[in-house]
Amino acid sequence: MDLLDRISRTAHEYPEKLAHVSEDRTLTYAELAQKSDALARHFAGAFPAGHAPVAVIGHKEPEMLIAFLGAVKSGRPYVPIDVAIPARRAAGMLQASQAVVALTPSEIAALANERSSAKPRRVGLNDPFYIIFTSGSTGEPKGVVITLGCLTTFLEWMLEQHPFTRGRETFLNQAPFAFDLSVMDLYLSLATGGTLFSIGKNEIANPKRLYSALDHSTVTVWVSTPTFAQMCLIERRFNRTMLPQLRRFLFCGETLAPDTVAQLLDRFPEAEIWNTYGPTEATVACTSVRIDRDMLARYAPLPVGAPMPGAKVLVVDGEGQPVTPGERGEIIIAGAHVSPGYVGSPDLANSGFFWMGNLRAYRTGDWGRIENGLLFFEGRIDAQFKINGYRIELGDVEENLRSLPTVTDAAVLPVIRQGIAQSLAAFVVLSRRGGESDFELGTRLRSELAQRIPAYMLPGRFIFVDAFPMTANGKTDRRRLADSIR
Ligand code: AMP
Repeated sequence: MDLLDRISRTAHEYPEKLAHVSEDRTLTYAELAQKSDALARHFAGAFPAGHAPVAVIGHKEPEMLIAFLGAVKSGRPYVPIDVAIPARRAAGMLQASQAVVALTPSEIAALANERSSAKPRRVGLNDPFYIIFTSGSTGEPKGVVITLGCLTTFLEWMLEQHPFTRGRETFLNQAPFAFDLSVMDLYLSLATGGTLFSIGKNEIANPKRLYSALDHSTVTVWVSTPTFAQMCLIERRFNRTMLPQLRRFLFCGETLAPDTVAQLLDRFPEAEIWNTYGPTEATVACTSVRIDRDMLARYAPLPVGAPMPGAKVLVVDGEGQPVTPGERGEIIIAGAHVSPGYVGSPDLANSGFFWMGNLRAYRTGDWGRIENGLLFFEGRIDAQFKINGYRIELGDVEENLRSLPTVTDAAVLPVIRQGIAQSLAAFVVLSRRGGESDFELGTRLRSELAQRIPAYMLPGRFIFVDAFPMTANGKTDRRRLADSIR
């Protein structure tokens, strides 16, 4: 039974079961099925046949789920675009993905009430299911195409590994739908007849509202970045009294610190804690490991796990040859869960994708090491960073800074504290400067930049210099710049 059949079966057997809860809104499985079917019929009638995507611009509204399923039920992938993405960047995503339409929640609600007799055909296993944009080093976001086959491979592995009870789970949804971590909670929930409990940006920004929402959530499976859990741990009440049914933490997207696990094990003694690893290009995650007290005592840093069956996760040297166990190399991932490529980019070789025999493979740009059959993540080879779980290419921020009228050059660096990137610092060379103070200039550049890149990518600090220090071979001496902000 495929994913869409599973969802239909739940709608049939438990029509009143809640599929989604967000702030003060709810959506039942019957509503999800009926409205997404109506939307699929609308798409089939309104647009010529093909796989051009439907873009959905919103946040955590129930209409997001309706539109995602409406799109794939009509044979089209969807492109989730969060409201936090500036209009200009969103326009670039629409153009790159060649979306037939871009819909907001209120437009989706209206269309889902229309009647059409068109006959939609849903996506097949090799068809694109969604396209998620990630930060790209050139200043343009890259659209990762994920097929139904990729998603199914990922879901079957997770469903096999974790004993979810059908119809009885509530999954926490912290990540916006535009980030692939949300795919883990969204589809595990829908595939198991669970309830997806979304925490919105207003709740995340307001601790009182956040904890009050969690108090009433009945969450059984927690899916988030480690940073979000760390933030929750600041609240002393964040423990098994607040979330008595919580049995499983699933982490992904950035380094899971031993201290976070130690605190969670103390506060939620009945819960299992899992670390999972993978890039958007390989569908959410493809290695995993349970971190119990033994693991915690044995390893620091913690492992990211063993590969899912059927997937190949290799650590290779500069020539692409596997290194000996324990040695550091680049992590390569191959398998049916690896994306066919980026939208509008047929040049697979230059994008990190390649064929390994008959398996699709992806060069992650991550350093790794394998020890006792477990993969360890050892940082990035290039200039990609994670801040609060968000993937940021420094080049993306630099290109957007350079495109501002008074900026001649820019170098962006992470501010690292205790081994973790906390924020960004931008070194800027200006073509001219009036009487503005550094503070005023920084505030102005920040607001100009906010028109181009999302808030989570904005540098916290601007440092104005006449020129960059240079290395012996004439490149910007990034190490010296980094030393100056230490
Ligand atoms: P994204 O495509 O946004 O999911 O980012 C993928 C990148 O996040 C990977 O290539 C890694 O650099 C990093 N990452 C993902 N999972 C983990 C993890 N469990 N531990 C450390 N880094 C991770």
